[in-house]
Amino acid sequence: MDFNDSLEEAAFRRECRSWLEANATRKERPDQMHGRGLSAAERMQASRDWQGRKAAAGFGAITWPVPLGGRGGTPMQEVIYREEEGHFDVPQNLFAVSLGMVIPSLFVHASPEVRARHVGPALHGKELWCQLLSEPGAGSDLGMVRTRAERCTDGRDGWILNGQKVWTTLAQFAEFGMVLTRTDPDVPKFDGLTTFYIDMKSPGVEVRPIRQANGEAEFNEVFFNGVFIPDSQRVGAIGAGWKVTLTALMNERLSIGGVMPPELWRTAAELMRAAQFNGGRALADGRMRERLADLYLNAQGLWLLQCRGLTALGKGKEPGPELSIAKIVGARTLQDFGYLAIDLQGERGVLAAKEVGESWRLVEQLWFGAAGMRIAGGTDEIVKNSVGERVLGLPPEPRTDKGVAFNQLAR
Ligand SMILES: Cc1cc2nc3c(=O)[nH]c(=O)nc-3n(C[C@H](O)[C@H](O)[C@H](O)COP(=O)(O)OP(=O)(O)OC[C@H]3O[C@@H](n4cnc5c(N)ncnc54)[C@H](O)[C@@H]3O)c2cc1C
Repeated sequence: MDFNDSLEEAAFRRECRSWLEANATRKERPDQMHGRGLSAAERMQASRDWQGRKAAAGFGAITWPVPLGGRGGTPMQEVIYREEEGHFDVPQNLFAVSLGMVIPSLFVHASPEVRARHVGPALHGKELWCQLLSEPGAGSDLGMVRTRAERCTDGRDGWILNGQKVWTTLAQFAEFGMVLTRTDPDVPKFDGLTTFYIDMKSPGVEVRPIRQANGEAEFNEVFFNGVFIPDSQRVGAIGAGWKVTLTALMNERLSIGGVMPPELWRTAAELMRAAQFNGGRALADGRMRERLADLYLNAQGLWLLQCRGLTALGKGKEPGPELSIAKIVGARTLQDFGYLAIDLQGERGVLAAKEVGESWRLVEQLWFGAAGMRIAGGTDEIVKNSVGERVLGLPPEPRTDKGVAFNQLAR
């Protein structure tokens, strides 16, 4: 494949760059992060405003179809925009779940009326959506979802929802959520699931933020206590919840592939140039240089994998195992970068950015975030299982629950 921009891609890159020059400020350093001193609610508002400006300029959802407000662009154009945006001091994108997973499922499975009402406000950052899948007893295996939706018995055309979700990203700020529920416990676990969307301000919905080690609360527990959902808010057929969920998960894997900050190895090299290690310069230490070389090789390998996946998508083909491999290696590489940066600081490595200085914020964020990336969108073990079975052709895991009704499974 050709790694240089085609004529059209070069023209698109110029268009992105000139819009960004007119609407944002260039970063002074590659590791500069937006939003210093802002509260979580202020960062959310900044992200909504930036999403709205991008959408108005045609950069809000580059690969979405034109009739839905997108640009009908290619995945490569999306990458070009992100590369260019990476040079500017802009708010963090907090719409990855909303626009990258939930709304694409609405495109495929919701009615034209629902799409007409909801896609525009989501695209313009006015309405945020969350994804209500995981529960305390159902994460890797979403077939074990227990949140119940039961038909109303009081004459209303709708359902009553009871149960609990967990790890729901940004639920405290979301206007709407897509929720996977069990509607029929008498059939095998994946057959009795149905998806709905809910207004997060509905009576009976309680959102409890989970405080993390870094002081932030990006996730929430969400409780449903007798929440009424009109049947018009069902997404897909009754019993087709797993099909709807698979659409979202496919899109999640696509978006998780591209999480590597550009030129991360250069940041590591700069840290190494500045640091002392074992009484000498860190860069003179062979073990440190080896870690830098590993980081560089992994980052380059990931970039090449991404190019291969994008080439497949550009030719209308499904990407192969690239996305699974990128997910496993990418999250691990980010974590390795965090450990390397901390080791280079010696004893000062345990200090927080507010003591070490602004340049430490990227390290701090990646160190806290990378462990989560090895879990979100399928844990390392689950992705390796899928590579083993689907790519290497290894025998599948034994399934003792096949054909067994959900309510007959051991708890
Ligand atoms: C950053 C982040 C954001 C998230 N956002 C959301 C969100 O917005 N909405 C949402 O619904 N959920 C969200 N989640 C939850 C996420 O989807 C789950 O954490 C994930 O699917 C794993 O499920 P679990 O935590 O229940 O772990 P479990 O499934 O209980 O797994 C525990 C351990 O057992 C291992 N394991 C499980 N099954 C197998 C197997 N068959 N073979 C080998 N090993 C196995 C796992 O790899 C893991 O190490 C988020 C998680 C993170 C980290």
